[in-house]
Amino acid sequence: MQPINKMKIQFDSKSANEAFARVVVSAFASQLDPTLEELAELKTAVSEAVTNSIIHGYEQMEGIIYMECRLFPESIEVIVRDEGVGIEDIEKARTPTYTSKPELERSGMGFSVMESFMDTLEIQSKVGKGTAIIMTKKFSQQKDRSFSSER
Ligand code: ATP
Ligand code: MG
Repeated sequence: MQPINKMKIQFDSKSANEAFARVVVSAFASQLDPTLEELAELKTAVSEAVTNSIIHGYEQMEGIIYMECRLFPESIEVIVRDEGVGIEDIEKARTPTYTSKPELERSGMGFSVMESFMDTLEIQSKVGKGTAIIMTKKFSQQKDRSFSSER
């Protein structure tokens, strides 16, 4: 299916950009008139993915994070990609409470949060090459749109 709208950005792997990425995705997704809850879930999932690229992918050093969004009539696809260290064992990384950085007091719940707030979550990764997280979320269509302005 062809997207009805799409966008691509890239930004430095700095923690200040976690909030930036959340806001950008939220603003872009707003075109579909999602509920506040749906938006909050989407923003949280994006934050988790961006934080992972900063902390794990680039290990808090300089790097570029690439984010792409595609809008469909009732859903959004978000890709967060880094060219960092990559993930050796994706199955293990997805396991709830598994973290490779317990010393940083991570709880190993990032992927579980992304999974529960999004409808699909795909992890592509190559050690030494980087990681891409591809997530999609459907927006409910049962809203009362009688107050929305003409679009
Ligand atoms: P939390 O998200 O709860 O703070 P966490 O980041 O360790 O802890 P997850 O987000 O579930 O937990 O990630 C699990 C593990 O997957 C990480 O500990 C890390 O080893 C690996 N990982 C996740 N994202 C990346 C990435 N972009 N690059 C390299 N490794 C990653
Ligand atoms: Mg995490």
